[in-house]
Amino acid sequence: NVSRVKVGPATETADLRRRVKEDTHPNKVDLGAGAYRTDEGKPWVLPMVKTVEVQMAADMTLNHEYLPVAGLPAFRTAASALILGKDNPAILENRLEGIQVQGGTGGVRLAAEFLKRNFGSDIVYVSKPTWGNHKTVFIHAGFSQIKEYRYWDAKNLGVDFEGLKEDLQKAQEGACVILHAVAHNPTGNDPTMDQWSQIADIIGARKLFPLFDCAYQGFAGGDLEADAQVVRYFVKRGFELFIAQSFSKNFGLYNERVGNLCIVTKTPDVIPQIRSQMEIIARTMWSTTSHHGARVVATILGNPAYFEEWKAQVATMANRIKEMRQMMFNKLRQKKVPGSWNHILQQIGMFSFTGLTPDQSRVMVEKHHVYMLLNGRINMAGLTTKNVDYVVDAIQDAISS
Ligand code: PMP
Repeated sequence: NVSRVKVGPATETADLRRRVKEDTHPNKVDLGAGAYRTDEGKPWVLPMVKTVEVQMAADMTLNHEYLPVAGLPAFRTAASALILGKDNPAILENRLEGIQVQGGTGGVRLAAEFLKRNFGSDIVYVSKPTWGNHKTVFIHAGFSQIKEYRYWDAKNLGVDFEGLKEDLQKAQEGACVILHAVAHNPTGNDPTMDQWSQIADIIGARKLFPLFDCAYQGFAGGDLEADAQVVRYFVKRGFELFIAQSFSKNFGLYNERVGNLCIVTKTPDVIPQIRSQMEIIARTMWSTTSHHGARVVATILGNPAYFEEWKAQVATMANRIKEMRQMMFNKLRQKKVPGSWNHILQQIGMFSFTGLTPDQSRVMVEKHHVYMLLNGRINMAGLTTKNVDYVVDAIQDAISS
């Protein structure tokens, strides 16, 4: 009986998106959505992506046949090589499989469904805080316990490493643990490599299963290799793991839903069974994925000249964000807004965890039309040379309100 259906809880980001659209205030600023913007505040179609799309449109040999359930082979191979390096032993020894999925979200969901059906555990550990959809995806996949490990030290505005260690040391054996491969969302703070090695020790000792969420390769400092180092380190240490790669941000292909779920095992003999189970689940969720975005990514990653051009365009995005960090920091200092604000410079990737409280964040949204999450997260790419003064003035007012 449809009359019994109730409205569910709203998603904060979707709600913000709607409000930004409806807001007619001339100075409104959207720092809520997790998408790159130019200094004119506009979406950016990467020129390299556009070039390939134009070629594809003119190519009369292409068609719209179904892809295999596991996706486009050239894309899966290229995507896995991008995160692990093409000479990675896991690739050379055939102990890796890539399954094309619907963006990063699809990868997380497929991983969760697979773990629920094929592993004895239905417990997952997520960082506190984490990307809003991690918990809900695992709940909807049927996990009975979504547990949090401490991650953010709100007082010192950095990673609460002692808390993190303590919580993971107590984690239930066999559970899944979600780790952000690079540029943690929402805090913009990653552990150091030394800390990662200690995290790996704990994960090994507690026999946890790592799922790396990799939505921002290239966004930390514009260096694709550096941004892959944590995942590569875990693979080198011999872990079996999943990597949910998203190409939404680094190719600007948000609505094309391009993702790769990469599975690394200790031995090659288990790969056919894993692929088979993955395909069974994928078949029931989306049957097969779409071709367009995966073809664009595969074409660019497979052509050395295109690859170089794309890399430079990823660096352009990362560098504009870094410039915005510096500009915002300088203005906060110039205007003597209370606080050290060093964390704005230290944080990496698309987001900054400003340290604004929910009440202060509410003032930003309600009074100043600066849209941001109530946990204090802002999208640095939403800042421009034109709106940064307005945003900093709004922060000054929110702090003193
Ligand atoms: N994981 C994290 C950490 C993210 O920030 C995002 C996007 N906001 C995703 C996954 C989802 O990516 P996609 O849009 O490709 O599904």
